Amino acid sequence: MTEIQITRTTKPQTPPPDETLSFGNVFSDHMFMLNYDEGKGWHSPRIVPYQNFSLDPATCVLHYGQAIFDGLKAYRGSDGRIRIFRANENAKRLNRSARQLCIPEIDTALIEESIRALVEVDQHWVPKAPGTSLYIRPTIIATERFLGVHPSKSYIYYVIVGPVGAYYKEGMNPVKIMASDKYVRAVKGGLGAAKAAANYAASLYGAEEAKKAGYTQVLWLDGVEHKYLDEVGTMNIMVRIGDEIVTPPLNGAILAGITRDSVLTLLRDWGLKVSERPISIDEVIAAAKSGNLEMWGTGTAAVISPVGELGYKGERYVINGGKTGELTRKLYDTLIGIQYGTGPDPHGWTRLLGNRVGG
Ligand SMILES: *Cc1c(COP(=O)(O)O)cnc(C)c1O
Repeated sequence: MTEIQITRTTKPQTPPPDETLSFGNVFSDHMFMLNYDEGKGWHSPRIVPYQNFSLDPATCVLHYGQAIFDGLKAYRGSDGRIRIFRANENAKRLNRSARQLCIPEIDTALIEESIRALVEVDQHWVPKAPGTSLYIRPTIIATERFLGVHPSKSYIYYVIVGPVGAYYKEGMNPVKIMASDKYVRAVKGGLGAAKAAANYAASLYGAEEAKKAGYTQVLWLDGVEHKYLDEVGTMNIMVRIGDEIVTPPLNGAILAGITRDSVLTLLRDWGLKVSERPISIDEVIAAAKSGNLEMWGTGTAAVISPVGELGYKGERYVINGGKTGELTRKLYDTLIGIQYGTGPDPHGWTRLLGNRVGG
């Protein structure tokens, strides 16, 4: 593999105290960069001091949104060692997103190595307090200077990392979500299955309306009939109805969450009945009324987010008494145990820093 050139900053910052951390506003001293130019391919992998880009105002990503990203975390265990969770899956997903937006793919081993190498250089930025982590954001933007709609001939792949606080500082807190029968995030045949910047622009208006109505997130329904569950904000959605656990299938409109896959794997390990099938909002509301329902979101930021209330067409439905369900809690505890190295990792999902990719 091509050597990654490392240029260290001459002005290292002091990471902020763990107890002040929130999400997405603090970044480490360095970043990883890789360029693509037509005829040359991806080239010049390097770690450089964290810095601004200089972009021509006509740079195509600023106009036509040819941008994708991914998101994962590194965790410092109680043993002090750093674990990166399932980065190989994020690398594959970044390439799937790339394909959908006509962005040239990157060797997955190089993506994994870019993440590992950057976390290694900035390892003192991985916070120590329980529940904290280092968020990792690989991104690709189209950088050709032109106005006109066609795939760019040049790109930058970069990775930035930053320490983030514990998601549940005051214990697991069930969220209120609102199913939208008006707005859609994505449709089959569109970009829903890609972690494309454009999807988040499309979600903002509906999310603001939900916030005005007192909910934290939108439960997106399918874009055709507004009837079947798709996903929530930046999380996949799951329910337990009686003894069946149901999550929407990867139908092209929703993102293939790595937490989703991890949870489904654990549930199957435990011998539970898991169905990836379309599930209608009416079925969920009927289950909420019968009282035999747990609902939770899955995603890297929160890992597991219990849902305590569902809004739909002006009605509010309380789920599981507004409390975190037993299965929801068990999933959270198990995944956290794997990520922080306090529990067994039977599927080998974490990679300890120091173990190079492929060796
Ligand atoms: C990132 C994301 C998820 C969750 O994916 P994870 O790999 O579990 O973090 C789910 N839905 C959307 C729309 C997302 O952007």
